[in-house]
Amino acid sequence: MSGLLSSTPPPPPSSNITYVKVACHCGLNEFRAGFPTDALPISNDLCHCSACRHSSGQMAVYHVNIVSLLCADTDEPFHVDGSDGQCISNGDGDLIPYKTSENGTRYFCSACSAQLIFHSVGKLTEGGKREGAYWCVAAGALERTEGIVQPGYHIYIEDTLDGGLADHLRSIGHLKLPRYRLETGSEVLPLGWKAPHDQTKKQPEGHDIDSLHFACHCKTLRFKITRPNAQSTLPHAAFPDLLYPYDITHLAKLRNSGDVKWWLRPLNSSEQPTKYFAGHCACTYCRLTSGFEIQSWVYVPRGNILDMDGQPLTLQEVKEDELSEVQEAMKKLGVARPGASSESRTDAAAPLGTRMPGLKQYISSPGRYRESCQKCGATAFAWQAGRPDLICVAVALVDETQDGARAESWLDWCLTRVGFTEQAVSPMTVEGLTAGLRATKEEKELGKSVDDTTTIVITPDSSAPVDAIAEKDRTSVVFTLVEEVVKA
Ligand SMILES: [Zn+2]
Ligand SMILES: [Zn+2]
Ligand SMILES: [Zn+2]
Ligand SMILES: [Zn+2]
Repeated sequence: MSGLLSSTPPPPPSSNITYVKVACHCGLNEFRAGFPTDALPISNDLCHCSACRHSSGQMAVYHVNIVSLLCADTDEPFHVDGSDGQCISNGDGDLIPYKTSENGTRYFCSACSAQLIFHSVGKLTEGGKREGAYWCVAAGALERTEGIVQPGYHIYIEDTLDGGLADHLRSIGHLKLPRYRLETGSEVLPLGWKAPHDQTKKQPEGHDIDSLHFACHCKTLRFKITRPNAQSTLPHAAFPDLLYPYDITHLAKLRNSGDVKWWLRPLNSSEQPTKYFAGHCACTYCRLTSGFEIQSWVYVPRGNILDMDGQPLTLQEVKEDELSEVQEAMKKLGVARPGASSESRTDAAAPLGTRMPGLKQYISSPGRYRESCQKCGATAFAWQAGRPDLICVAVALVDETQDGARAESWLDWCLTRVGFTEQAVSPMTVEGLTAGLRATKEEKELGKSVDDTTTIVITPDSSAPVDAIAEKDRTSVVFTLVEEVVKA
């Protein structure tokens, strides 16, 4: 895991190569990835292995093979050198390497943590040589994907124990994606496959009953969530895009003036909520700070996220005076409960403590924070200053041995929509995911399997009340307006 790596992607062969720009969200890393023109579109796997999920914070990783890597503006090779766990700055960008196995090193941006490059040194042969080395880039960071890359199949479904994201993303276009147990060519697992009961539903040693555990690959970040309780109803939050698409919904509706506790499930029922609302997001922030088109989040009140000592999570580094400014602005807009102040906010949820060690914060835009592991780069949390007590937690970090990678006894998945579909760089992938979600919903209702290969055209969630749909001029989200007021 240590020592200097001296790695440089292969120089471009003389054959015909198509170059596509790759860039992370913060722009610190920009280069061009070369694909063999004759082989386009490149069909690669969506990998569901534990190393991919826990080192990225995404439920699957989509890396595509490349034949060369050049700087963004010159035809010089883009160098990727450095030692494990340390930032490299050799003029070609700033990437932190992290080894997930003897063969494989992942490289993520030192500022925004986007996972951009994967390098395998190949497998050790009997003669002691390595064979089959290759380089990949993260498909989500490509400037364009149409005609360049296309997911072809799922691999390492076995590691999810419940099918994971593959049960939601079944087809792309008219192509049903094969679901391999391990590598390509291994046994194909049917839709709805689950690991034998003795592999799941067991509480690993030291796990308290009734909390769901999460960890990144290097285990620097470890935390747990508890079941909804009285405290879980205290946050106030605008509706998420998953429920009411921001681009077509009246701001008045988005503000959630009725103070619906939409993150608790079941909702509007006499039963006590036992689950949290979860869903997939295709927004540009998620894509470019991670490297994959689909980021899966569960919304959890801050007071229900505990560190391993049982202390509530603290993410905030917002100074008290900044906080009151934001809250003042929110009050003007009517997005906060009248009378809410920094005092009642801290009373309302968990007390402020020290930040979880090992977290790296990236501000993707003013007031929007993403938190990831400093060492392995895994995305862990996203949150906004406008609703500091409701946190997006990366589902991929869940301990799948408790209840599978989808953790369905804890999470209630949104089956009608993918968040921010309109921002997707590969509409076909997101349309395939939406079709898979809707088929899952239908199957739950009908109790039998449904064909999802009919093309889906993304339309607004038809379950949204008619008064929520407005003229198509609402591109702003609640927090954007809060920012404007603060600036003014
Ligand atoms: Zn993998
Ligand atoms: Zn970056
Ligand atoms: Zn880590
Ligand atoms: Zn997002």
